[in-house]
Amino acid sequence: MVKFVYDFEEGSNEMKPLLGGKGANLAEMSLVGLPVPEGFTITTEANFEFFDKGGSIPEEMLSQIKSAVCRLEEKADRRFNDIEKPLLVSVRSGAPVSMPGMMDTVLNLGINRTIAEAIGKKTGNFAFAYDSYRRFIQMYSDVVMGVDKSKFDMVLDDVLNKKSASNFKELDSDTMMHVIDDFLEVYSISTGEDFPEDAETQLINAVKAVFNSWNNERAILYRSHNGISHDIGTAVNVQRMVFGNYDENSATGVLFTRNPVNGKDELFGECLFNAQGEDVVAGIRTPIEISELKTTRPELFDELYNLSKKLEKHYKEVQDIEFTMEQGKVYLLQTRTAKRTAKSAIKIAMDFVEEGVIDEKEALIRIPTESISMLLHPDFDEKAKKKGFVLAKGLPASPGAACGRVYFTADDVLKAKEKGENCILVRKETSPEDLAGMIGAGGILTSRGGMTSHAAVVARSMGKTCVSGCQEIVVSEAERCFETKTEKVHEGDYISIDGYTGKIYKGALEFSSSIKSDELDKILEWSDMYSDTKVRANADTPADARVALSFGADGIGLCRTEHMFFDRDRITAVREMILSQNLSERKRALDKLKPYQIDDFYEIIKTLKDRPITIRLLDPPLHEFLPKSKEDVEELASKMNKPESVIRAIISKLSEFNPMLGHRGCRLGITYPEIYVMQVEAIIEAAIRLEKEGQKTKVEIMIPLVGFDNELKMLRKMVEVTAGEVMTREKHHLDYKIGTMIEVPRAALTADEVAKHADFFSFGTNDLTQMTLGFSRDDVNSFMNEYIKKGVFELNPFVSIDTVGVGKLVEIAAEKARQSGKKIKLGVCGEHGGDPKSIEFFLSQGLEYVSCSPYRIPIAKLASAKYRIMKGRG
Ligand code: ADP
Ligand code: MG
Ligand code: MG
Repeated sequence: MVKFVYDFEEGSNEMKPLLGGKGANLAEMSLVGLPVPEGFTITTEANFEFFDKGGSIPEEMLSQIKSAVCRLEEKADRRFNDIEKPLLVSVRSGAPVSMPGMMDTVLNLGINRTIAEAIGKKTGNFAFAYDSYRRFIQMYSDVVMGVDKSKFDMVLDDVLNKKSASNFKELDSDTMMHVIDDFLEVYSISTGEDFPEDAETQLINAVKAVFNSWNNERAILYRSHNGISHDIGTAVNVQRMVFGNYDENSATGVLFTRNPVNGKDELFGECLFNAQGEDVVAGIRTPIEISELKTTRPELFDELYNLSKKLEKHYKEVQDIEFTMEQGKVYLLQTRTAKRTAKSAIKIAMDFVEEGVIDEKEALIRIPTESISMLLHPDFDEKAKKKGFVLAKGLPASPGAACGRVYFTADDVLKAKEKGENCILVRKETSPEDLAGMIGAGGILTSRGGMTSHAAVVARSMGKTCVSGCQEIVVSEAERCFETKTEKVHEGDYISIDGYTGKIYKGALEFSSSIKSDELDKILEWSDMYSDTKVRANADTPADARVALSFGADGIGLCRTEHMFFDRDRITAVREMILSQNLSERKRALDKLKPYQIDDFYEIIKTLKDRPITIRLLDPPLHEFLPKSKEDVEELASKMNKPESVIRAIISKLSEFNPMLGHRGCRLGITYPEIYVMQVEAIIEAAIRLEKEGQKTKVEIMIPLVGFDNELKMLRKMVEVTAGEVMTREKHHLDYKIGTMIEVPRAALTADEVAKHADFFSFGTNDLTQMTLGFSRDDVNSFMNEYIKKGVFELNPFVSIDTVGVGKLVEIAAEKARQSGKKIKLGVCGEHGGDPKSIEFFLSQGLEYVSCSPYRIPIAKLASAKYRIMKGRG
């Protein structure tokens, strides 16, 4: 016999897969003696049993539910359908993975007219009794029977208007009963049946509805977007009601045990007195901030604070809780690990280390790797902010900066997005139906709702900039515009929203460059403690190198010399070199270039101090340096005093059908050795100059695009001869290395032969991917999206390495390099060097360093440390 039902006392945190997150946490909280109303959980297995039985509850499950109700009646000292002491319950969904707002909850179940009247009489609080009843009718109709909530809202609003009342509880009891009668009528008209009076019938129908809600559209969309499996199912929690709508000494609220936006150690949340369930997040009345309670209701504040600390201590994590106070007594109704911004995730993890709750390794594991790039993400430029025209100010609900065109519906956002526009979704408030639009928009702006409104919570979890509750604007979704006191903003107009301050600006503001925080420094320090993987930068200029060093780069893994050629002053000399018609002409041109190159190398090596630098000799085909447009050709001709026709002839002679597979890389070095000779001389001279000035250097000269060991053999010889001559001339011995990129599949396959002439290998995974897949990286956009959409592969192989195919070549080459018996240093310098998934793969292949763009260095460091820590844990 399968056990489908667990009382809260029988469960625990480890049982999440079976009891769902909410159920397991309710059980765990009961276990440690926190104030949780009694109840039981119907398992996720029951959900699938229900689906297997074609959407009906089998006999065995039914009887287990009934006995659980009996036990609950005992514990709560209340009974279903009992006039004296009626048991009312909530029916709540809860999947193993938190799916906020995805499934619906029914409150006050078990109530009917007779019971409502009895409760009214007994407590003398008819407002409460009838309020609970009308809420139940509305929720049950909506969740269980699919009757639109708004039908009931219309009825109620009508009456409130007529009576000039602002909410149901202000009405006199006769009018309340009228509203309820009207509600019941709406129900019968919409469903063709009478509203069920019997508690057990209500319960069974509600349980079925929660089961079925696993497959509602919003739930499916949420799962698809978040990569959650569709086969885990939801549990159902049945729990005694406690009433936040009892009186003014009752309340309902939500809070985070620490600030989820900036990570500060302070209670953060909202509550509403004399209210029930999700009134707080629905934005119906403006809630009170928890921090205000400190002065207005200190005893309540202290109680919430103590409960929060107990929870944090127990779970060793920041919690996001839902609570209800009934006549002064606080109950916890839910707790889960709080979603938070990257910034706060980092601060909280660090504070926890300081408070001794977790250790540094755990802290690193908890910091989402990709998201630390948010620490470096641009804010708006300070000057631009000062000059910017502020339209309005709302709540800084989710940090970041976004600008784009304004759209007012999810559909419009998606359409605009297809056209490649950046969009800001503007709404009065958002609901789960807007999810697709929120995903598509670059930022979200709402005029209503607080810091825990739907828009705010969802935006934070997506890392998306959001300003919520911007009451200074009036949004008209129907007219596709919003207004401030003085301005009107229409669909398609540009605005900029600042998620740090809540300010809304007219037009598109300029972004600033990076910010850097103390937290980041600490993460880098800890990462270095737990990982011996070196992280180098792909950097071509002293400025890049300085940024890289500020992020703790261990050196430069790829310095592309061609970027130095593109400089305005030098391009003429480069072109002269290319246009030379004989060797002596070319040498003359190269002599002009050499001093520039010496300076470049001198500066960048100097910036690096004694850290290693891998300098790649010229790689791109020569025609890339030649002018393309008519005007540019004319200008060059007159500058160089050569007929245009000569220049055109050379351009066309150099032009290639497939330049990426053409005359480039070491092929240039073989055919025009004087170019590489000049570069090597410049490198060695610069390094010697620095050494004579007292700096140690670690220069590594890298030959690109080698496919044949003979290529490397010849070029190594050339480098050695050239360098030797410089050293003799300068009377200074320099230690340096010669290596190659592994980027042509043939080089990987014959790595043992290539290794004979190399001191190091650096995997150039961009070209390696391009050549292995036979995809031109520059032309891939025409089919890449379709390939990913149709599932040919999951991830773009130019972003995350194709471990199966390209990875195989890496594996073979690394293995062959090791077999060669030479100590060959192995690293990677493709774009993949900054991708966490790829890094894991490279480390598993025994690579010693990765090199990536300066801004990816923190990510690469954290990814490497996490890999080592996880490996250590086994
Ligand atoms: P969700 O998963 O959407 O958060 P919940 O099941 O947590 O839905 O229910 C939403 C809200 O309903 C809770 O935050 C709480 O305010 C209220 N609620 C649920 N169960 C009870 C209960 N037994 N007593 C009082 N309020 C409840
Ligand atoms: Mg909900
Ligand atoms: Mg909840």
